[in-house]
Amino acid sequence: MEIVRRTWQRWRAGGEESAPGLDALLLAHYPGAVMLLDEQGVVLRVNPDFERHAGHPPDQLLGRRAVTLDADPLHGGFALALDHCFTTRQAWRGVLLCRRADGAPRHQTTMIQPLEERPGGPLRLLVIQYDVTGMRERELHDRQLLARLEGTVSRLPGAVFRLRQDAAGHLELLYASEGLVALIGQTPERVMDDIERLLGRVVAEDRRRLEVVLAQSAVSLEPCQLELRLDLPSGQRWLEARARPQRRRDGSTLWDGLLVEITERKHEEFKVRRLVSTDMLTGALNRRAFFEQGAALQARAQRHGEALPLAMLDLDHFKALNDTHGHAAGDLALQAFAATCRECLRPYDLFARIGGEEFAVLLVDISLDEAWPILERLRRAVEEIVLEVEGATIRFTVSLGLAILLPNGSLEGALGDADRALYRAKHEGRNRICGPGGASPLPRDADPA
Ligand code: GH3
Ligand code: MG
Ligand code: MG
Repeated sequence: MEIVRRTWQRWRAGGEESAPGLDALLLAHYPGAVMLLDEQGVVLRVNPDFERHAGHPPDQLLGRRAVTLDADPLHGGFALALDHCFTTRQAWRGVLLCRRADGAPRHQTTMIQPLEERPGGPLRLLVIQYDVTGMRERELHDRQLLARLEGTVSRLPGAVFRLRQDAAGHLELLYASEGLVALIGQTPERVMDDIERLLGRVVAEDRRRLEVVLAQSAVSLEPCQLELRLDLPSGQRWLEARARPQRRRDGSTLWDGLLVEITERKHEEFKVRRLVSTDMLTGALNRRAFFEQGAALQARAQRHGEALPLAMLDLDHFKALNDTHGHAAGDLALQAFAATCRECLRPYDLFARIGGEEFAVLLVDISLDEAWPILERLRRAVEEIVLEVEGATIRFTVSLGLAILLPNGSLEGALGDADRALYRAKHEGRNRICGPGGASPLPRDADPA
C-alpha cells in the first residue's frame, strides 16, 4: 500500500519526476483501470490506459460519479463499496459487475483504498480495477461442465469411486458418486467418513479375496476386477468392482473404479450353472459336474491331508425292472432312488448320476469307517421304497462299492477302485456294500433277487 500512497502524493502534487520512478511506471503500465475519487465519489483523475481497461473515454468520466461504471449504478456493489470506505476509512476489495460504454458487462476485481491528505482532512479514494471477465467466464464454464459431469455420473447405473490404500495398508474411500446410495443404501459421505460402513457388509470370504486382489494390484499396478457379496438389510446383493491402480509418490496406491450391481446376472448365472450341472431326470449332479466339484473337494481335502470316502451305486437288475414294468416305471424308480439318496446324505456330500442307473457319492469330512453306516442306512432305505405303478407294486435294491480317495490320489483311480468293489458286491449277491477290503462288516439281508 505504501507505493500506492506515494503515487497518490505525487499525483496530488501534480508533477512527475524527470526520470519516471517505479510508482510512475506502475501507474503507466498497470494492466487495469485506476481512478482517483474525491469525497463525493467523483472521478478526479484516471490512469493513461483507463479507456482500454474500463471501456469509457476518460473525458466522459472525469467530473462524474464513479458509480456510473456499475452495471447497476443505483443498487450495485460499487455504491456500497464506496459507502464502506467513506464511513470506515478502511480499504475494500471485491468483484464488481461494471459496464463498458458500449454496454458490455465486465467483472472487475476492485480494490478501493481511502487516502487522507492529513488526519481529518478531505478524503480521496484510489480505485484500482482489474478485468477478470475472461477468468469468470472460464470458471462459470468449468462449473457448468462439472455440474453436467456430476449429473451424468449420478445417473450411471452404479457408483464411481476413488479408493486409497496407504503404505501401511490402511484403506480410505476418497470419493464415491451418488449411485452408492442405490447400491448399498448409504450416502457417499458416510462411507467416505468410515469405509467400514461398506467393507463391514462384505461377506467374510469375499473380503479376504478383496484384500488379496488389492494387494496383487498394488504390486503389479494392473487393473483389477472382483465380484463381491454384501449382506444388506434388504438381503444379499452381488456387486462387481473394476478399478485401475496408480502409485503415488508417498507410497500409497489409488484405485479409480466403478461399482455395479450384478445380483440378477449372478442369479441367472447360478441358474444356468445348476442347469448344466444337473441331471434332468433325477436332479442329481451329472457326470461332468461330479468330476468338477469332486476335484474342488479333493483339493480342499488335500490341503488338510484328508482322505475322502467314495462310493459307486448301481441299481440291481434294473434291466429286468424296465422289461417288466416299462421304461416310464424305470424312470420313476430312478427318481425315487435319487430322492432317497439325498435324504440319507448331507447337503454338502456330492451325489451324482454318472451313468444310466449308476450313481456316485463323495462324502465330505468323514472317515471310511464313518461312511459305511451312512451308506448302509441308504441301502436299507432304498430297500424300503415301494412304488405303485399301474396297479403293480415295484421294489428294487442297490449295490454299493466303497473306496477311498487319498489326498494325493486321482478321482478316476478311486472311482475305478469303487467300481471293482461294486463288481464284488454284485458278484456276492447284490443289495450290499463291498469296501476296499471286501464285503461289509455289518450284517445285511440276503439278495432278494
Ligand atoms: P445289474 O444288477 O447287474 O446292475 O443288472 P442291471 O440290469 O441293472 O444292469 P444292466 O447294465 O444290464 O442294465 C441297466 C439298465 O438300466 C439298462 C437300461 O435300459 C436301464 N437304464 C439306463 N438308463 C435308464 C433311464 O434313464 N431310464 C430307464 N427307465 N432305464 C434306464
Ligand atoms: Mg449298471
Ligand atoms: Mg444295474
